Parts: sequence; C-alpha cells; structure tokens
Amino acid sequence: MYTESEAVEHARDVLALLQELGGWELVVEYMQHINLPPKRQCGDCQLCCTLVPIAELGKPAGQRCQHQCNTGCAIYPTRPGSCRAWNCEWALGLAETDGMQRPDQVHYVIDTVLDIVTVTLPDGKEKLLVMQVWVDPNWPNAHEDPGLRDMIDRVAQPALIRFGSKRGFVLIPPSLTSGRGWIELGEPTNELDPHSRGADRT
Ligand code: SF4
Ligand code: SF4
Repeated sequence: MYTESEAVEHARDVLALLQELGGWELVVEYMQHINLPPKRQCGDCQLCCTLVPIAELGKPAGQRCQHQCNTGCAIYPTRPGSCRAWNCEWALGLAETDGMQRPDQVHYVIDTVLDIVTVTLPDGKEKLLVMQVWVDPNWPNAHEDPGLRDMIDRVAQPALIRFGSKRGFVLIPPSLTSGRGWIELGEPTNELDPHSRGADRT
C-alpha cells in the first residue's frame, strides 16, 4: 500500500521531469490545468471514487470508497483534501473532451494528474510523462473507446492505461509513432509508481 509521503514524493518527480522537458513555463501550465474549475457536473457519476486510490483513506485503486452512498459522498463536508482538489478531465470540460461521454458511461476516468513510467525502447530505457486513464477492471476493453483514442491521438501524449495501482500498459498514439499506428508497451507490472489523487496539489 502506498503512503501519503510516497505520493507526494512521486508528484515532485512529475514536476521535476516537466521542468526538465519544458522549463518552468510547462510546470506553470500544468499546475494551472490541474487547478481549473470544472465546467461539467458529475451528476450520478461516482466512478473516480471507486477506481482512483486515496492515500489519506488508505483506499486502494479499484475498490469502492467506504464513504460512497446513494447521493454521492457521505462525508462530503469533511472529505479528504485530495477529494476536494480532484476533478477528472471530463469534468473539466476542456475542448479536448468535446463529444466524450461521462466516465460512468464509458467505464474509465481520465486523471488530470500526469504520471511517470520507465519504458524499454530499442535504444535503452526512457522515462515518459503519461496521461493516466483509470479503467474499470470489469470493463478491460474500455480503453478502446473511439472517443478516448481520438482524444489521446489529438493531444499527442502517451497514456498509461491503468487497471489498478500495479497493473497497466503504456499506449502510444499514432501522432507520435511515425506511421506505425497505435503501440502498446507491455504491462509494466510492479513498476507503476504510487499515486494519490490530487497529491501534487498539496
Ligand atoms: S469520474 Fe469525473 S465525472 Fe465522474 S464523479 Fe469523478 S469527477 Fe465527476
Ligand atoms: S471520501 Fe467521498 S469524495 Fe472521497 S472517494 Fe470517498 S466517497 Fe468519494
């Protein structure tokens, strides 16, 4: 089980890699993005409360939060800080998600927080910044949704398709593969870093 301090350390790694790749401008752009107010209403959706891990509660990925109830969150006024800070990409409602369906209808949640994975390429190991897509393990093919594939290709960012904290694979879109189409890079079991939703907003 990951801890809050591991999650914060991990978030620092993401910021450091962003700074290395694009300087402070990219770091600022990222911080602004993850703190945007949502444009869309969650309605009856509660999928993130099940799929995403929450360090403060010791809640693992893919497990229904003990505080979920018919109306949403039973402890809403006192919910953890990471729950307060959280929005998924669909809820933010930016142009890249135009036409996409609400997460509970398509069985995946796109995190606004980036992650880092180490992949093995022909010329050695490389660290990649990846968009995180939390897929409901009961719907393992949900990542094939054309709306999601189109979005990943348009933003031209590798995606980590996560079935939990330790299982997933990296998906590289055609816009990054020079005519080789979609590339799936293995299943980096046990290499996925700990993650807490919203941890890098602390
Ligand atoms: S997954 Fe997105 S739309 Fe659904 S409850 Fe969470 S934030 Fe709201
Ligand atoms: S504490 Fe509330 S908002 Fe946070 S995961 Fe649980 S049900 Fe969702």
